[in-house]
Order: sequence, then structure tokens, then C-alpha cells
Amino acid sequence: MYEGLNSPSIHTPANLAEYSQTVLRYPNVQIWAGGTNIMTRPKSYPSRSTDSEIVYLKGIEELKKITRNDRMIEIGATVTLDSILKNHRNYLPDVLKENILSIGSPMITGRATFGGAIAARNPMTTLPGTLITLGANAEVRSVRKKTVKSRWIPISLMLNESKDGMVTLPPRSLITRVRVSLLSSDYSYFREEGSYIDDPDNTVAVAFTAREGQMDTLINPHFAITFPTKGIVYSKDLDNILMQLHFPLSEEEFSQLLQIIYTFINAVTPNITNLQKRRLNNILEDMINGINAKVLAPSSIEQGLN
Ligand SMILES: Cc1cc2nc3c(=O)[nH]c(=O)nc-3n(C[C@H](O)[C@H](O)[C@H](O)COP(=O)(O)OP(=O)(O)OC[C@H]3O[C@@H](n4cnc5c(N)ncnc54)[C@H](O)[C@@H]3O)c2cc1C
Repeated sequence: MYEGLNSPSIHTPANLAEYSQTVLRYPNVQIWAGGTNIMTRPKSYPSRSTDSEIVYLKGIEELKKITRNDRMIEIGATVTLDSILKNHRNYLPDVLKENILSIGSPMITGRATFGGAIAARNPMTTLPGTLITLGANAEVRSVRKKTVKSRWIPISLMLNESKDGMVTLPPRSLITRVRVSLLSSDYSYFREEGSYIDDPDNTVAVAFTAREGQMDTLINPHFAITFPTKGIVYSKDLDNILMQLHFPLSEEEFSQLLQIIYTFINAVTPNITNLQKRRLNNILEDMINGINAKVLAPSSIEQGLN
């Protein structure tokens, strides 16, 4: 049945130095972490078109570590989504918790890794959008002409460089760690609509974080929309527009905001489907209603006075 197939060679480095040696020797080696994205692609394995060299990351000790202090958590690239949720649940920002929970059963999150969830393309996962709203940075290690370079890159910049809403890593590079701020947000929202696996073309997700400002405004709002097969829409300009709003928003103000958001979407990915639009409108209505309700709710001091 598989006549003519070549089995790939699988390299299993135990540390980053061995990983670099492998990449220097086989520059087109395919990185394999949890494999959950790779295996769901058409013709993943076995097939004539699969890569002949695979580097499996799970043996690399440096990539398994997690460190945390009061302000931030640093997560190794091969830490699984499930283990971060299980072991650090009480500290994780709500938006990240909600995102991981939305990915579904521990069968998947128990294999899917933090690095793989950021680097996955076609479809992209919802995680980069969420990490952007948290101002997260990833350490990226590139091997080029016998030199190894590591640098920290804000995940939002991985999008901006490509301008098409796709997470783009420098060629032949490896995400080694991700830093996420643990500073709390007053507003936090995550929702994914659609079936990521069965119908990613019609799936959409929104992540949002902000602090409460004076006069019913938002401080440091960060807002990202993910269309898994089309692109992530994130812009500092859009965050600035959200910062100028006063809540609660009236229906008219909400419609104006929707129009502005669609201008940003069209600049990145003009071909979203009608179903995605409908789903997005529902999500945004729900998100804005949540902010309106919080602003209108009596504060704990007022409640105590009544
Ligand atoms: C049944 C099912 C349901 C799912 N539902 C959802 C959902 O609802 N929402 C959602 O957002 N996602 C969903 N996913 C996608 C899932 O989140 C991704 O498949 C997963 O996060 C990818 O992680 P991984 O470790 O398995 O990556 P892999 O499959 O191993 O790799 C993915 C890609 O990233 C590259 N890569 C891996 N690690 C690194 C690294 N450290 N540095 C550089 N490149 C790297 C690989 O070369 C590959 O191209 C679902 C997946 C499945 C199978």
C-alpha cells in the first residue's frame, strides 16, 4: 500500500546544543512537538510528501521548564496546555485559562504544547491572539550558518512583520520559552465559536483584556480576533480607539464600533465568511454587554451603603 514510501528519520535531541547540531546538519528538518496540528493536516504521515527528517522536541530538558514569580510566568515550549492549567491554574490570567479550556479534552491539551500552539499554521490556533492580549513575548532561537541566536520577540510583532495576520517566525527557528505577565486585568474575555477541527474556515475567536479606568473608560485594552485559516486581527490603533470609549455603550455607539472593527478586519483579511461575521457580531455584542453590565453594576462600596 505504501510502496515507494521513505520513512522519515526521527532525531531526538536531549538538549538545545544537540538540537542545534541537528538543524545545522539538516536545515529543512521538520520540528515536531505534540504533533496534534501536524497529524491533522492532510497527507501528514505516512506520505511521499512528508519531510524526510523530523526533530522531536520532547526530550529537550530546557524546553520542559516552568518558572514563576509575582509578576510573570515563563513557560517552556514543550510544556503541555493541560499541565499548565493543572499545575498553575490559580495564577494563570483568566483569558488564558478560558482559551485553554475551549481547546477541549485533555486528550488534545495533554499533548498540545505551548510552542506548537503558537507556531501552528493552517489552521492557526486561538492561543497567539490570547497571548497578544496579555503582552506575551516568546524567546526564538535561530540557527544560521553555524551561529545560534536567541532573542525575545513580542508575539504581536510576529504578526506585524507578515502583515497578513499570520504568525510568522524567522526561517529555521525554534520557540524555546514564552513569558506571560501575571498582572491582573479587571476585564477579561475569551470566546471561540465554530468547530476548529471540522470547520475552521467558519470559526472565529475573540480575546480581550483591560483594566478599569476613571470615568467609565478602559486602561490598556488589548483586543485580538482570530480567524484560524485567515489571520489574526490585532492593532494598537484599535486598542487606542477602545481606550477612548465611555461605557456603557449605546446601541448606536456599538454599531459604530462594529464598523470600525470591520475596517481593521478588512485590512488584514477581507474574505471572512458570512457565518464568521454573524458569529463575530454575536461574540462582540456579548463582550460589550459584559463590560456595560460591569460598569452599570453598583460598586461594592455603594452596595455596602444601601
Ligand atoms: C481534536 C482537536 C481539537 C482542537 N481544537 C482546537 C480549538 O478549539 N482551538 C484551538 O485554538 N486549537 C485547537 N486545536 C489545535 C491545537 O491547539 C494544536 O494542534 C496544538 O496547539 C499544536 O501543538 P502541538 O504541540 O501538537 O504542535 P505540533 O503539531 O507538534 O506542531 C505544530 C507546528 O508548529 C511547529 N512547532 C512546534 N513546536 C515548535 C516550537 N517550539 N518552535 C517552532 N515551531 C514549532 C511544528 O513544526 C508545526 O509546524 C485542536 C486540535 C485537535 C487535534
